[in-house]
Amino acid sequence: PTEQPILQVRDLGRLFGGIVAVNDLSLDVRAGSIHGLIGPNGAGKTTTFNVISGFYPPSRGKVIYFGQDISGRATSALAELGLIRTFQGTTLFHELSVLDNVRLGCHRSAKASLISRVLGTDRATEDAAEEKARGILKFLELDRLADEITSNLSHGHQRALGMAVALAADPKLMLLDEPFTGMNPEETRRMIELVKLVREEQGVTIMLIEHDMQAVMGLCDIITVMNFGSLLAEGTPEEVRNNPTVIEAYLGSA
Ligand code: ATP
Repeated sequence: PTEQPILQVRDLGRLFGGIVAVNDLSLDVRAGSIHGLIGPNGAGKTTTFNVISGFYPPSRGKVIYFGQDISGRATSALAELGLIRTFQGTTLFHELSVLDNVRLGCHRSAKASLISRVLGTDRATEDAAEEKARGILKFLELDRLADEITSNLSHGHQRALGMAVALAADPKLMLLDEPFTGMNPEETRRMIELVKLVREEQGVTIMLIEHDMQAVMGLCDIITVMNFGSLLAEGTPEEVRNNPTVIEAYLGSA
């Protein structure tokens, strides 16, 4: 990671009626880092992701991406800027093949194909999307599953395919929502390798919410801990693990 922030959250607040979901949160995500966002249930992690990725506008404060205030911009506009969010549940087309899911992801991202999206796709656009999709599948070692129907894949493979679809959108910053949920230890181990690979080889900055502490500690360069909507602590996995306030917050909620 560099010292350069790709994302700056400043004094962020988000209310839902009388509920303060996020309160006065500030944090920096450095370019090239793997940045964890952890905290007990209801701490405000998902809401923070939802505001950063444009699903909700902030009630107050700012989100700055590559030095630009993007607060309240639409998800689709942010995706065009390379800010891509994945979801806990997969958002794949289960009845389509693995390759087709990634091809569709390529189409959605290709700005140049706007006309072809309206008028029907042309051959060259199709070929380019397929080539790119096959490249991504090869990179993630999913190429042998290209023709498999998505619903036949194991949970771990479906999550890996979710990463492939996200990569099709040419992300610069990827927000991963609980990427290890529901995975067995072997699937988790493989997903950790995959996240590292995406950072190393594609230069994508990664921010992730995760409850699997072992995975978080092993993967992240820096971790922000939230509690009751606010920042509780921030630091390296080592620092966070040994922080008495963090330990107390987790034990208190257990
Ligand atoms: P978890 O780890 O359980 O997913 P979290 O840290 O992601 O929790 P959030 O989902 O952001 O926490 O929730 C923070 C608070 O905001 C909770 O009290 C939650 O009930 C509330 N909240 C979140 N979204 C909404 C909403 N759309 N409407 C009303 N309240 C909401």
